[in-house]
Amino acid sequence: MTTLASPPPLTSRAAIANGEGAFVIESIEVRAPAADEVRVRLKAAGVCHTDHASLNWSGPLVMGHEGAGVVEAVGDAVPGFEVGQPVLLNWAIPCGRCFQCERGNAPLCERTLARDSGLGSSAAGPGHTLWNGCAIERSFNLGTFAEYALVRPEALTPLPSELPLDQACILGCGVMTGVGSAINIADVKPGESVVVLGCGGVGLSAIQGARLAGAGRIVAIDLHQAKLDRARQLGATDTLLVSRDDADHRMLVEGVLTLTGGRGADHAFEATGQAALSFLPLRFVRDGGAALQLSGSHGEVTVPMPWFQWNKRYLTPLYGGCVPTRDFPRLIDWALSGALELAAMVDATYRLDDLGQALDDMLAGRTTKGVILFD
Ligand SMILES: [Zn+2]
Ligand SMILES: [Zn+2]
Repeated sequence: MTTLASPPPLTSRAAIANGEGAFVIESIEVRAPAADEVRVRLKAAGVCHTDHASLNWSGPLVMGHEGAGVVEAVGDAVPGFEVGQPVLLNWAIPCGRCFQCERGNAPLCERTLARDSGLGSSAAGPGHTLWNGCAIERSFNLGTFAEYALVRPEALTPLPSELPLDQACILGCGVMTGVGSAINIADVKPGESVVVLGCGGVGLSAIQGARLAGAGRIVAIDLHQAKLDRARQLGATDTLLVSRDDADHRMLVEGVLTLTGGRGADHAFEATGQAALSFLPLRFVRDGGAALQLSGSHGEVTVPMPWFQWNKRYLTPLYGGCVPTRDFPRLIDWALSGALELAAMVDATYRLDDLGQALDDMLAGRTTKGVILFD
């Protein structure tokens, strides 16, 4: 019997946030996988608002937390993966055994959250991934803005070869958050009405989730007509263009009520990332309806709750309630059948060297979803 030599460390170009609001593209060293690890060669990586936030992480960080690629090397104790297998990377790995996991709240896994504490992680042992000879953290334990990433196998979902990696790479964060919030958290039922405030990547995914759930009326709201046109293409039945003159949102709320029988929608999603708009969805839903804030926490806000509003629920779902083993195969099936449209959400591709442009375009609202392509 011959013993295969373990593969050598690889030099990989990567985007490294410096913790002070900027990044550099430099080389990192990614060592061979340990027995319980897989080394992935990235082919495509989605750009998310959190990547911009990661520029101010507490120390140097390999950026990027959405991605798809092919398996490049497999640890001895990892079953089920072969070199060359296309895979989707996912940043939330529930333990399956804690209080939250046992109640189906996988993204709130107490073990993962406690260990990973947000954007970066030092879970990797010394020498895992090196920059200038020192161990470096990776965004959400992944670091997908790099040619190679070393991950645990639980972070990987096999992809069918028919699904292009430059589309599949966006499944892992924004699409999961939007679709999952509609289907897993809001539990939209056939015929129900849905309002989506903000038609970026997460908002458009919520619209697609509502359509997949069989929602009757889906009202999309945005400041830009082009984004509303895209929303209609992806499933919105009605659109409302926000007027900047409507400072107290009175016209907008009236518009929603007119479209939803005068009493409001069953579900309303906020996906703008604007703290001041966090609670606007409460004014869009009927008594007993649910308002969901998908943008994550972005500062303290005051809740303006008008009189005589009853049984309304306000939810702040994390990652669309993602249970990776349940949700990613389902999203992949929908993408393959065309029920979930991915290509229509990606409106720009970039080389890694152009990451600055990708972030600028995203922040200026010029793109819905940018994707970094690797050779
Ligand atoms: Zn993200
Ligand atoms: Zn858990």
